[in-house]
Amino acid sequence: MVIDVELEPLSIEGNLFTKPIFMAGPCSAESEEQLLCTAVSLAEMGIKIFRAGIWKPRTRPNAFEGVGSVGLQWLQTVKKETGLLIATEVANVKHVYEALKYGIDIIWIGARTSANPFAVQDIADSLRGVNIPVMVKNPINPDVDLWIGAIERINNAGIKRMAAIHRGFSSYDKTLYRNIPQWQVPIELRRRIPEMPIITDPSHICGNREFLYDISQKAMDLNFDGLIIETHCNPDKALSDAAQQVTPDGLKAIIDKLILRDPEVNEELMLTMAALRDEIDKLDDRIINLLEERMHVSERIGNYKKENNITILQTKRWDDMLKNRLRLGTRKGLSEEFMIKLFRSIHQESINHQTSVMNKE
Ligand code: PEP
Ligand code: MN
Repeated sequence: MVIDVELEPLSIEGNLFTKPIFMAGPCSAESEEQLLCTAVSLAEMGIKIFRAGIWKPRTRPNAFEGVGSVGLQWLQTVKKETGLLIATEVANVKHVYEALKYGIDIIWIGARTSANPFAVQDIADSLRGVNIPVMVKNPINPDVDLWIGAIERINNAGIKRMAAIHRGFSSYDKTLYRNIPQWQVPIELRRRIPEMPIITDPSHICGNREFLYDISQKAMDLNFDGLIIETHCNPDKALSDAAQQVTPDGLKAIIDKLILRDPEVNEELMLTMAALRDEIDKLDDRIINLLEERMHVSERIGNYKKENNITILQTKRWDDMLKNRLRLGTRKGLSEEFMIKLFRSIHQESINHQTSVMNKE
């Protein structure tokens, strides 16, 4: 079922945003100097929209919770000095009034807030009659209806310039990502609201700088509309989300490397493939975590063998194990050849882990 939302193309003062839309800026505003030194470099490289959090929703108390309204004045300075459009997160009605008072150009609703219909409705009511673009992050849980519900609440208040931000989803399991991307969720959002621009937030998906490019490229390959990437002039010293922020040069390297493909190739096919590949990625992630867990157990055995002065390789155990795994694997349709290669290689890696444990001083 396609959802009925009334949208207008994303633009500000009549200037249409061209795709891909890049937004960048620090996780949090920390000082006027920090904002300016980041913003000047971003403006020089052609970025048009500057993000900075003023009120920070933090998981635990006593972390840096944002500078509050004084940061809005610094954002005004950024706008005046660089011409960048300024964007910030709002989580309640007071934030909306403050953001509007200080001429913020674009607001977004954070993942924790999108998960709460009461909070979203309050924000929507406070925006009635206000003509400002609003971006809605996915809720922290992978519930596409909740995400759509938040979008509808804002849209029903008369907001027509909107975008959805895909920032990944919390999970209890340890994974490669801070928030697993679950691409099938934004893909489903696109199916239900085809005209809604989707901006991917690789920073909060990754939680580190390492995979930012891969996630960004994947968003482009899915024909999503843009990226919002946390950028800081001195990321290692950032007061929040230090590990995932990049320098403006780091951001430029990511953008320069992006391959923008022709979206005309059968989008339906591309989206189906992407959903399947996402499943493969998740399974591989689980396989890697299981292997890690397996090696930890091997290391514990290594310690035990060391304490009791037993040799690493016990041929009978290895022989029994291989036979048993072969039987299990072939029953599941995996070839004998593959099972032998796989378990030889896992066994060798285990021996290597045990050797290093046993030879540690
Ligand atoms: C942010 O963009 O700084 C932020 C807090 O993100 P999220 O709501 O996605 O956690
Ligand atoms: Mn952040």
